[in-house]
Amino acid sequence: MAIDFTLPPDVVRVRERVRDFMRNEVAPAEARFARDGGWRKGLAELRERARAAGLWAPHMPPEYGGMGLGPLAMAFVSAECGRTMMGAYVLNCHAPDEGNMHTLLHHATEEQKARYLRPLVDGKVRSCFAMTEPEVAGSDPTGIRTAAVKDGDHWVLDGHKWFISGARGAAFAIVIAKTDPDAQPPQARNTAFLVDMDASGFIIVRDVETMAGHGNHCEIRLEGVRVPDSAILGGRGQGHRLGQARLGPARLAHCMRWIGSAETALELLVGRALSRELHGGVLADKQLIQAMMAESAMELYAAKLMVLHAAYLIEKGLPFRQEVSIAKHHVANILWRITDRAVQVHGALGYSTDAPLERMLRHARSARLVDGADEVHLGQIAAHVIEAFRADGTTRRATGLDLL
Ligand SMILES: Cc1cc2nc3c(=O)[nH]c(=O)nc-3n(C[C@H](O)[C@H](O)[C@H](O)COP(=O)(O)OP(=O)(O)OC[C@H]3O[C@@H](n4cnc5c(N)ncnc54)[C@H](O)[C@@H]3O)c2cc1C
Repeated sequence: MAIDFTLPPDVVRVRERVRDFMRNEVAPAEARFARDGGWRKGLAELRERARAAGLWAPHMPPEYGGMGLGPLAMAFVSAECGRTMMGAYVLNCHAPDEGNMHTLLHHATEEQKARYLRPLVDGKVRSCFAMTEPEVAGSDPTGIRTAAVKDGDHWVLDGHKWFISGARGAAFAIVIAKTDPDAQPPQARNTAFLVDMDASGFIIVRDVETMAGHGNHCEIRLEGVRVPDSAILGGRGQGHRLGQARLGPARLAHCMRWIGSAETALELLVGRALSRELHGGVLADKQLIQAMMAESAMELYAAKLMVLHAAYLIEKGLPFRQEVSIAKHHVANILWRITDRAVQVHGALGYSTDAPLERMLRHARSARLVDGADEVHLGQIAAHVIEAFRADGTTRRATGLDLL
């Protein structure tokens, strides 16, 4: 019997180290910065402390200066990071750099790795991933209008992007552009380019303000940006494939951090329910409040199992798309529900900016949109269920584990 839920000792050790670092260094520092300011300098110092403690780029191989952890071990590291606002950034495994590092590691040429991946893992630069456009549906990247036109041994890029996370302050972008508008299938029309942010014609228009404030999700215009042939990442016409390959593990990394955040919300809920006195007892005595706790515990349990199973599939090189879609949809939704319950149990305090929950809730809302909106994942999950039934007369292999 191969199933074993015992965590390997090295994973337990790394989780403890990250947990201690988040608890003792990152969380108190964030509280200090929120009170007194000094985020920029403070975060730079925290990153140096993380590096000195050997907690740096955990998802990257040691030859690049990382810790060499696979998706399963990363599930635990990312969940610990998700318990703070900036924990993933402090360890240099935050979105979108984390996904970009993986993409470069697996698809870049040696020259591209030296120029872009090395400084990224080293924490000397940041990056962004520019696919979504305001004029066309982000849920269907085959419709991308940003065009790359060949001009000798160069390409000229013109287009309009938005919601490009981390763009301001990034050194380079992975830009998805249309190189072959007539190619069939439509998924073969797009190509990924490595573009320096200081390239002439690369214009950051604004940081789009969202319900969670300014998060460096930028609107960008590309006006006659010239890049050489060698800027193509992963091959001409491979932009869609590369985006999909990037998004699988990157979606899961989001889920792991969201689990950390949902767990924090549940702890706030329980802490408040145990201390808020009314009717001669506390809120935690009320069955309606206990139901919220129980629902949240069950949802978190399922979330953890889904994420670990999807991480296992990725680590073993097995097909993972269905399981990642299921996990992504589930975790994004339980993050929202659990955080909302925590707001509810805190009453007016939960709605106020005196508690962290209103901020957590505003951030949580984007989880149901980024990296594939809920409905996109539901559609893909259903398509796998139908396909499995047609092929096998049963839906077993489309429901996560073929247990029956
Ligand atoms: C905080 C944040 C950060 C982001 N960061 C980045 C980034 O770094 N780089 C980047 O390129 N993009 C980024 N995005 C963009 C994100 O990837 C897109 O918002 C997402 O792909 C959806 O595209 P859209 O907004 O154009 O919505 P649309 O594609 O227009 O979809 C709108 C809605 O239609 C519904 N819908 C879509 N497809 C279907 C379907 N098949 N069936 C039924 N209903 C459907 C869904 O409810 C969906 O929310 C970010 C977005 C946010 C909110």
